[in-house]
Amino acid sequence: MSSGNASILSSPIEYLKGIGPLRADMLKKELEIFTFGDLLNHFPNRHIDKTQLNTIQEISPQTDYIQVAGTLLSYETVGAGRAKRLMAKLKDKTGILELTWFQGINWVVKNLHIGSDYLVFGKTGFFNGKPQMVHPEIEPLVLSKPGVKNFLEPVYPSTEKLKARGFNGRQLGKCTEVLFSLIKPGDLPENLPDEWVQQLGLLSRYEAYRQAHFPQSPEWAEKAFRRLKFEEFLIAQIRLQLVKLERHTKSKGVVFEKVGDYFNTFYANYLPFSLTGAQKRVLKEIRTDTGRGRQMNRLLQGDVGSGKTIVALLSMLLAADNGFQSCLMAPTEILAQQHYAGITELLREMPVEVALLTGSTKTAARKKILQGLLDDTIHFVVGTHAVIEEVVQFRNLGLVIVDEQHRFGVAQRAKLWEKATIPPHVLVMTATPIPRTLAMTAYGDLDYSIMDELPPGRQPITTVHRFETARAKVMDFVRSEIDKGRQAYFIYPLIEESEKMSYEDLMQGYEQVKSFFPEPKFRISMVHGRQPNEQKETNMARFVKGDTHIMVSTTVIEVGVNVPNATVMVIESSEKFGLSQLHQLRGRVGRGKEKSFCILLTGSKVSREGRERIKIMCATNDGFKIAEKDLEIRGPGDIQGTRQSGALNFRLADIVQDRDLLELAKTAAEKIVEEDNTLSMAKNLQLKKFLQSQTATHGWSKIS
Ligand code: ADP
Ligand code: MG
Repeated sequence: MSSGNASILSSPIEYLKGIGPLRADMLKKELEIFTFGDLLNHFPNRHIDKTQLNTIQEISPQTDYIQVAGTLLSYETVGAGRAKRLMAKLKDKTGILELTWFQGINWVVKNLHIGSDYLVFGKTGFFNGKPQMVHPEIEPLVLSKPGVKNFLEPVYPSTEKLKARGFNGRQLGKCTEVLFSLIKPGDLPENLPDEWVQQLGLLSRYEAYRQAHFPQSPEWAEKAFRRLKFEEFLIAQIRLQLVKLERHTKSKGVVFEKVGDYFNTFYANYLPFSLTGAQKRVLKEIRTDTGRGRQMNRLLQGDVGSGKTIVALLSMLLAADNGFQSCLMAPTEILAQQHYAGITELLREMPVEVALLTGSTKTAARKKILQGLLDDTIHFVVGTHAVIEEVVQFRNLGLVIVDEQHRFGVAQRAKLWEKATIPPHVLVMTATPIPRTLAMTAYGDLDYSIMDELPPGRQPITTVHRFETARAKVMDFVRSEIDKGRQAYFIYPLIEESEKMSYEDLMQGYEQVKSFFPEPKFRISMVHGRQPNEQKETNMARFVKGDTHIMVSTTVIEVGVNVPNATVMVIESSEKFGLSQLHQLRGRVGRGKEKSFCILLTGSKVSREGRERIKIMCATNDGFKIAEKDLEIRGPGDIQGTRQSGALNFRLADIVQDRDLLELAKTAAEKIVEEDNTLSMAKNLQLKKFLQSQTATHGWSKIS
């Protein structure tokens, strides 16, 4: 019955009336439009109300795009070679507008006739005090059809090359007009379940496409795009749900069936505080995950200081209760040492064997540890990623915890359990909050937990902005904190560790700090990316132990370091940092009982965006709020670790601007898959059919 459906949309674009092989070639090269369907999905970026004309007199320096009608007075080509350009004068009742072309001159000239009336559209500018338009869209003036009010003409994204060949944004509209004369509602059958279309008051699929290209009114255009964006989100969310489901049903995991003595004894006697609600919730999620018989693969997002370490430790005790070993991997040696020190301290009264394994573990000790892991006398090993991944073999590994990382290097971590028949559970912890909307799309097929609550009694960090000119006062303040026995950080922007300029800035900064805090009264550590690792670690360790008062550093300090006695951080040229980086840096203070401060220094000239970032930092300590703002300012492409994620490539939808639609789509997708995970119910068949057709053309993983 509908054998014609697929074929019309998959017709090669050269078969559309008015587009021959030559123009088809250009459309393919420039816009990747190969078929009728591709053209259908090339949406207008705006509509112009053809009946809306302005006069030339109305053009002011504030005018942006404008449409005017007038008579062509004259034209001439001036200059030669690269400087060659075509200049024309258009006159209406109120004045004269200069039109200029630098490209496609021959083609434009062919269509210009002095004395004829034209409609021109474009961005206006002023040159020598006269209004002008460069590369306007121009066409003979045809008076709008009688009886048609509000005629909205689509304007499509085009390229300079296409424009030069007579394919500007409006002329592409002629092609879509032809296309729509061929397409019938049956060619664009509904693909969403009817109940959702009704419940959300969405346009039908055909109507949405038609109104997106040729809307009756701006309101209709809006409704059309709403439907199409929802469809995009829903299809993506359904796919994520199906991938997740497949992973869940296919993967086998070791079963932690009970909570036993290790966990209970620790919980009752040695837990130094009561858990926050968020910590309890996450533990429950982990407990459920690990008891089900499938592999846990969970991302735990918790803002700096939200207490992820204790969650890790309790999970490891749970593994021990079920006879399994655990490993906790940190990105740096310092962090690994800190975790080891903290954990052994907490477990000092418990019969649990904990080992530390890093690059600097001596050969003899290392041998012993490796043996202990093989014969299962060691319960927990804490260490750096690299070392553990490379050399370690376990007797009975049940749980892997990766700290301060959210890039899922799945292949890399798989090394750890290559030889195990059943893979261990994996918990990845990160303190870089990812906005909810982003997480939903980028990590929607993974399980993730959020700890959005800080332990009670934490004093919020006070953040202020100070100009360079107030440096002496800032230094006085830092000195007063050090006099109270506290420590301080000075952070310099060295984004590119190899950049010579900023390296010199850092050295100058170091000298400057030294001049304010002279030896021997004050002792200063410095850490940067050009130092050999060993030196970095030693300098860090001195500060951690309290041997030095001040740490001068680049952003290498960012990750996880815990020095509760440090109460001030001065961030130099703070306008040069991104928001989430500033937040991560700031998280190095405010970790102890004492009130902490973060001082954002800048020069007198700060860009608007830089000011915006600083304002947000001064206003909130909430990492999730900051991440949302960051996403708004920078867009999803830049957020760490998500750049390569194909999940973010939407044609129309925008995960920031359309986040309410995304939430709706996620809820709908969850409900649909929960109720009918093979999409076999009658009401879901059109959805299934659509997914399968997409799978065929886009090579998506198969759904059965
Ligand atoms: P992060 O999530 O940044 O890794 P940590 O696990 O290092 O945070 O915890 C930060 C600090 O908060 C530690 O000193 C830890 O002992 C403390 N802490 C964690 N949970 C609680 C809690 N529920 N109540 C009080 N203090 C807590
Ligand atoms: Mg941590």
